[in-house]
Amino acid sequence: MNNVASNIAAIRARIPASVQLVAVSKNQNDAALDDALKAGQRLFGENKVQEAYAHWEKRRAQYPDLRLHLIGPLQTNKADDAVALFDVIETLDRPKLVDALMRAMKKQSRLISCFIQVNIGAEEQKAGVDPAQLEELLRYARAQGLSVTGLMCIPPVDEDPVPYFKMLRNMAQELNLPECSMGMSADYERAIEQGATIVRVGTALFGVRS
Ligand SMILES: *Cc1c(COP(=O)(O)O)cnc(C)c1O
Repeated sequence: MNNVASNIAAIRARIPASVQLVAVSKNQNDAALDDALKAGQRLFGENKVQEAYAHWEKRRAQYPDLRLHLIGPLQTNKADDAVALFDVIETLDRPKLVDALMRAMKKQSRLISCFIQVNIGAEEQKAGVDPAQLEELLRYARAQGLSVTGLMCIPPVDEDPVPYFKMLRNMAQELNLPECSMGMSADYERAIEQGATIVRVGTALFGVRS
């Protein structure tokens, strides 16, 4: 087994089968991506639309069961490209993006699910909707016809993430949203303990990014 394959096996052994493992492949080279595919990994996360195309446009034809999540911020002018490539947009955070995504989905007759990214620590300069505006954004998205099925967060760095994981899980429960995307290499097990249904793991799976 190569390193990526053994890392995937080790992580899989530590998470329940009901939890989805998003392999975060940003900044990885072709060999790493192919090692993960060979090991059976089919769900990947990227945080830039352009890099995601470079990584996955061709491989998608080869692996029809590939699934891609966008986990980085999305500009409205890239909504068309994002809708064409990704299966889930995890970073919905504003009404303008709802409008752009709906336009793109109608144009392409392709409806994909979104998660709302919550700025769970209410930090200045951090992506995600302010917790106080979450319900309003959800209502708006649904009124426009967008399928919102979950929440996503990145807790403040250098703080215990557990209280933030709990908060996101509670918000998802109150809003009846089944998916909760939280937890990265350093804290995915703690996120699962708090109810994560999706963890996003890069470094622990691929090694340090180049
Ligand atoms: C890079 C990234 C990850 C993965 O981080 P690791 O610490 O390498 O596991 C998860 N989520 C988002 C949004 C990211 O940008």
